[in-house]
Amino acid sequence: MKEYDSIVVGGGISGLLSALVLSKAGEKVLVLEKNNIVGNNCISYMVGGYQVDTGPHAITQLRKGGPLIYLMEKYFDYMPVFMDYGDYFIRTEKGLRNVPTTLGGYLTMDILPRKDRIMIAQALAKMMVLWQFGTDLTKTSVHQCLPWDNLSAETADFIDTFCYFLSGRSMKETSVHRMFVGGGFVEESIQKEIADKKIQYLNQYEDVKKVSYVSRLLNNKKVSYNQFYPRDGLKAIVNAILYSLPVTAEIKTNTVVEEIITENDTAKGVLTKGNTYYSEKIIYSAFARDLPKYIKELPEHYASGLEKIKQSKTLTIWLGLNGEFNDFNYVGGEVWYRKKAFWAMPTSNYNRDFAPAGKKLVGFMFSIDEKNNVESEKRDAFETILRVYPGIDKHIDMTHYQVTTPEKAAVSIDGFIGDTKTPIKNLYLVGTDADDRSMGVTRAAYSVVKLIKILKLISKG
Ligand SMILES: Cc1cc2nc3c(=O)[nH]c(=O)nc-3n(C[C@H](O)[C@H](O)[C@H](O)COP(=O)(O)OP(=O)(O)OC[C@H]3O[C@@H](n4cnc5c(N)ncnc54)[C@H](O)[C@@H]3O)c2cc1C
Repeated sequence: MKEYDSIVVGGGISGLLSALVLSKAGEKVLVLEKNNIVGNNCISYMVGGYQVDTGPHAITQLRKGGPLIYLMEKYFDYMPVFMDYGDYFIRTEKGLRNVPTTLGGYLTMDILPRKDRIMIAQALAKMMVLWQFGTDLTKTSVHQCLPWDNLSAETADFIDTFCYFLSGRSMKETSVHRMFVGGGFVEESIQKEIADKKIQYLNQYEDVKKVSYVSRLLNNKKVSYNQFYPRDGLKAIVNAILYSLPVTAEIKTNTVVEEIITENDTAKGVLTKGNTYYSEKIIYSAFARDLPKYIKELPEHYASGLEKIKQSKTLTIWLGLNGEFNDFNYVGGEVWYRKKAFWAMPTSNYNRDFAPAGKKLVGFMFSIDEKNNVESEKRDAFETILRVYPGIDKHIDMTHYQVTTPEKAAVSIDGFIGDTKTPIKNLYLVGTDADDRSMGVTRAAYSVVKLIKILKLISKG
């Protein structure tokens, strides 16, 4: 009855990476994707002569044996070209400021009141020392570790903004651990030597190596250390996977999986409109939160854990600007932390071909509240851009909106993250809700490395 060795539900980056490692291990693989193209959150497309991505992206952990570089080196037939991310700035009414990366930087940063800066630096140093000596800070919120009775509202906005960009949630839900890792103070990576070894050593991927030094707080050079952007746009990563897929991998788009067939708590296949596909393994890369919709008899404790998964929503506004607008002349990203905070990234500075001759392309990403009306969020966000960059309206050549769920599970203090193994035999999860390390594409790659380990996959090519 078995038709495929594995079926992958969902063709986002985690589903495609899974299909790649399974088919390179000699398996016959079927990928079922509900949309008419694969890639989902990790694609680029054309709008009025501009190449936009699905939101501004910085790809992390690409230099030091991180999970994506491991998968690319081992499984890709060619590597996309990546460019150094550049610098991060804070936008103020007086122009751009560098994001501080050291204790000294926080102390001298002139955009917040001096007394607040001293208190932040003290709290930062204290938490760093605790972290260095082994205290688990994954359940301590950023809000908890700061003396709020004495800090200004402006400082609260500043810290909240950075928490939203690091975890997709507020400072009350963002852990200090996440702030340290995402802020570039400490590094969360697997070591290159481990990555290069054979499959039996993949056990060691479980132990994320914490390379941290209090001294880093004093001399950390760059927030964007180890962050990159694919020169040909986000689509370059998915294109390289598609090119590398062996012929034993088949992709069906426009195919919605409606049910995962189980028998005696074992996954046997999937049901789509009009078809049933059987397989000895199902790799599920759609929302783990939705799993109870596809399998009626999930154990109660597991289903109630999945219900606790938190997500966030983002709105990206892409603006095509004529060359006369004299801003965004840097490579990297900037953050506006006052009312209606956003992260902006001028992607055409990585590759001029993303915009027609003489024009620029900038993406502005806002966290939005799911409870609010999307149209009013769009209006507010657009008006914020007009307010922050006076005169920009006269230079806009193209406007494009995207509303997205950047990660299938936000890493928040009281949220839930699934695991690769599920209580259903032969059913495995991959993607950003199956691992809590790092963010986005890197997190998806971590989950696939875990899948390789669990299934003991050995590449034959
Ligand atoms: C605005 C924005 C900014 C971001 N910034 C960054 C960044 O700076 N750095 C970074 O690393 N990452 C970033 N990310 C996150 C990154 O793009 C995603 O985490 C990653 O692409 C998610 O991959 P995934 O495979 O886990 O999930 P998804 O892309 O969600 O893939 C899941 C797939 O499953 C399919 N599917 C769902 N249900 C079914 C069904 N029933 N049947 C068949 N198919 C189904 C979906 O259509 C989809 O294709 C950002 C994302 C956004 C939106």
